[in-house]
Amino acid sequence: MENSQNLWPQGVKKTKQRASVLAILENAEKPLTALDICARREKDGDTAVWPSTVYRVLELFIHKGLVLKTNVRNNDMAVYELNRLQHKHYAVCMNCHKLIALENCPMDTFIPQLPDGEFQVQGHYLEIFGICQDCRPTENNPQ
Ligand SMILES: [Zn+2]
Ligand SMILES: [Zn+2]
Repeated sequence: MENSQNLWPQGVKKTKQRASVLAILENAEKPLTALDICARREKDGDTAVWPSTVYRVLELFIHKGLVLKTNVRNNDMAVYELNRLQHKHYAVCMNCHKLIALENCPMDTFIPQLPDGEFQVQGHYLEIFGICQDCRPTENNPQ
């Protein structure tokens, strides 16, 4: 059991709901909204999947550091992804809300200068927004 799910956080009771949300995030190729997760669960044959249940599971995983939540500008939906060891940033298209992963992180080269030397930085958010290639007006597709 322990070998089959290395990711499972300590001190969290394993339920079918939780296991299936985690499995979906593990297999996701991009960050998902809670509704995406519901839709995928229903496709997997789960019945009566309530967004509120999925949100509760996600909140628990976030609390355990297993899942990262990103709020998308101009969109009231947050997206969720597995907290892989290497974190990612996304550029958001303001038109279609598509997320495009950045290949780097500004913090790789940035050392925050904080007045209090005791402060320990544990994370950061970065918002990059613009217009994706699909939404950019072209000669064939004037907007
Ligand atoms: Zn777009
Ligand atoms: Zn970063």
